[in-house]
Amino acid sequence: MATKAKSTSLCKWKKLEIEDNLKLLQKLINQPQFVCKKCCRAANSKKNLCKALAI
Ligand SMILES: [Zn+2]
Repeated sequence: MATKAKSTSLCKWKKLEIEDNLKLLQKLINQPQFVCKKCCRAANSKKNLCKALAI
């Protein structure tokens, strides 16, 4: 049973949310264009990161 993923910031995902939404996560990060300079996460869209920086 997948929890309702927040479509905003991956940085705010909790461990359980990550495990429950792996498919969505893969879609959001399969072609990373941005990295979060606070959390070291990468994503396709800067809206998925709290401190996005283009890479
Ligand atoms: Zn972040």
